[in-house]
Amino acid sequence: MDFEETQEQEMLRKTVREFTEEYDAMYFEEYIEEQRFPEEYWSDLADTGLVGTLVPEEYGGAGMGMLEMTIALEELSRGGDPGGIALALTAIFGSVGITEHGTEEQKERWLPAIAEGDVHFSMGLTEPNAGVNLLKMDTFADEVEDGRYVVDGSKTFISGVDHADGMLLITRTTEFDRNNPTYGVTLFLVEDPAERDGINLTPLEVEVPWYETQYQVDIDGLELTEDDILGGADNRDVALYNLWDTLNTERIAVAAGSVGSGLRAVDLAVEYANDRSVFGAPIGSHQAIQHPLADSYSKLMTAREMTYKAAWKYDEGMAAGLESNVAKLRSTEAATEAASDAIQAHGGNGFSRDYEVFPIWVNARLFETVPVPNEMVLNFIGEHELGLPRSY
Ligand SMILES: Cc1cc2nc3c(=O)[nH]c(=O)nc-3n(C[C@H](O)[C@H](O)[C@H](O)COP(=O)(O)OP(=O)(O)OC[C@H]3O[C@@H](n4cnc5c(N)ncnc54)[C@H](O)[C@@H]3O)c2cc1C
Repeated sequence: MDFEETQEQEMLRKTVREFTEEYDAMYFEEYIEEQRFPEEYWSDLADTGLVGTLVPEEYGGAGMGMLEMTIALEELSRGGDPGGIALALTAIFGSVGITEHGTEEQKERWLPAIAEGDVHFSMGLTEPNAGVNLLKMDTFADEVEDGRYVVDGSKTFISGVDHADGMLLITRTTEFDRNNPTYGVTLFLVEDPAERDGINLTPLEVEVPWYETQYQVDIDGLELTEDDILGGADNRDVALYNLWDTLNTERIAVAAGSVGSGLRAVDLAVEYANDRSVFGAPIGSHQAIQHPLADSYSKLMTAREMTYKAAWKYDEGMAAGLESNVAKLRSTEAATEAASDAIQAHGGNGFSRDYEVFPIWVNARLFETVPVPNEMVLNFIGEHELGLPRSY
């Protein structure tokens, strides 16, 4: 075991820290208010090489791993970017699946463009009816003639699809069969989803401090071909296992962002608690303020180790399902608690728009429910790790 960061990783952490000095929480305020994508930030992020972190060198990326992505997301969030969300959407929904499972053509089409910051990605997984029971999804891609598909269905809460150049669309190509429930899932890469005939977007009003909007995506007669299937026609019906790479790395990314946001809450609370005196001494000298912050910090540190372990195992090609889930569970809870403690330390200012801790709490709390609710994480641990019967 070696817990020390490499020189390259230390450099990366320093680079991201410096980057966030310019792009801190204040910078994002107007973009969140106007629900506008921060293009300048994105192009600078790409220039630092961060967007291509996971893209292999042969396709123009940095050829690094999830561990480096974890460091980048943690530091972006700790610097005030709400969860490093734009990076997570494109780097995870775009690069992971295509690098691991894409055809050569798909890799050449998308990976260099992702690394350059020229494209954005989104993922259409959640459905209004199926919810977390993803195997029961209604979105169906019907093969109407050899290699030609027509898709109908609907997806909901899809982030950033309005300006995405690509969408990873999760469909069924064979009806659900209780005897073989995991068979029949196919992943498509949909180019320019917002421009396509057969796709209609409706913005949703969601109370989160993000610059990305969520959309209801209604799909009616969308035409695709087998060339659009992630990994090509051989991956038809058998893609559920390909999706796990994306979903596990998404959990690691959320864990990293949550650790970063939680640490930011603690940083801000410590600064405030050192500064603010009411009974002739800084409020941080009172254990009622100090202990919760120290306790949250310790929980964030614990969650962070599990997040790094999950990322490391993923990079080593080892099964990382348990660690990814545990990291997601513990880090989201620790971040919510840290943000709540930070609000308490700020007193009334915890709710003031002049301070940042309330939106950090909203974001941290969101990630207890999204992209997978923590109940489903516990179901996974109970069933797959502890061997308890499935209750649903
Ligand atoms: C801001 C935001 C951004 C999002 N971005 C995206 C995106 O880009 N792409 C995408 O595909 N989706 C996205 N989502 C959707 C998100 O992933 C889902 O909302 C989430 O997975 C929960 O699904 P649901 O809302 O359908 O909950 P439901 O399935 O309706 O579940 C409701 C509650 O019941 C619980 N529950 C259900 N079944 C069980 C069970 N068997 N045991 C225990 N508890 C159970 C759940 O844990 C949950 O707490 C986003 C959502 C939000 C709010």
